[in-house]
Amino acid sequence: MIIILHADATNEQKVAVIAEVERQGYRPHPIFGEHLTVVAVVGKHPGALREYFESLDGVDRVVLIDQPYKLVARAERPHLRFTVGRDTVVGGDKLTVIAGPCSVESEEQMTACAEAAKASGAAMLRGGAFKPRTSPYAFMGLGEEGLRIMAAAREATGLPIISEVMDPRQVELCARYLDMLQVGARNMQNFSLLSEVGKAGVPVMLKRGMAATIEDLLNAAEYIAAQGEERILLCERGIRTYETATRNTLDINAVPVLHRQTHLPLCVDPSHAVGVRELVGPVACAAAAAGADALMIEIHPDPATAKSDGAQALTFDMFEKLMRRLDRIPRYDYTDEHVG
Ligand code: PEP
Ligand code: MN
Repeated sequence: MIIILHADATNEQKVAVIAEVERQGYRPHPIFGEHLTVVAVVGKHPGALREYFESLDGVDRVVLIDQPYKLVARAERPHLRFTVGRDTVVGGDKLTVIAGPCSVESEEQMTACAEAAKASGAAMLRGGAFKPRTSPYAFMGLGEEGLRIMAAAREATGLPIISEVMDPRQVELCARYLDMLQVGARNMQNFSLLSEVGKAGVPVMLKRGMAATIEDLLNAAEYIAAQGEERILLCERGIRTYETATRNTLDINAVPVLHRQTHLPLCVDPSHAVGVRELVGPVACAAAAAGADALMIEIHPDPATAKSDGAQALTFDMFEKLMRRLDRIPRYDYTDEHVG
């Protein structure tokens, strides 16, 4: 259930409601918005508890959540905004662009990408150190050395870094280096991995599985939130359909649908959705126009020599042009309240 406090509830009343939730044996999940405070309570609630919470000072009403996912359900929660690294905002008024190569290949390649990303206005840096590859003989990434190279790129540019973690045994190592952990499409329903990243103390990007429904995605996010990590950025990266003209099919519908279903912010990854560099720009613009909170875009200093996903990597020049186009695109305004 979600306890919604009055807009003018005092701090004392908020604290008292949260304490009362704890006293009743539940773990409170408060969200403090600019205009609204809500407290999520998960567990088996006897019917009387709803009435009891509703009678507390400062409480406006209590809403029950019908969905199987509770902590990530929108209910009447304000749209979530959180900070990654020192001061990169996700879910705020500005589009957050995450850019970088598919794989970290070398210090020179990563430094070049980091500088280009920063110069064009990206807010976060990506790069794969542990790569999920379809063939077991393909380049698997540089592992910890890749994480070290990414940390050096953060040092040089000040941009926070995100990279994929593929295995529960890598979570602790990755969390030591990274500002945000990425769970890839192929691992969206790796429940032991989801639980482990939920305990790492680092915000998480969760990518939609290529054959997952939106409800599957939200249930997967609930596994992370249930472990205490509620700073989750969902990512629509295209799903498998019968269409073969592009690598995947971007489900643009996911943008407004997720906006209604969850308070979590949403990233769109046009690179993996289309798989062809010439198509990345228009699809990125469509995602921004639909109201995505963030974009993840692959770039490379020399896409022809990239060790993975070269066909979809933008050159630095293309990325710069795309960023200037994105500046001119008004994002769909859902006129939401944001919380910090
Ligand atoms: C990636 O971001 O490099 C990646 C492997 O993406 P996905 O998990 O969406 O395929
Ligand atoms: Mn890739």
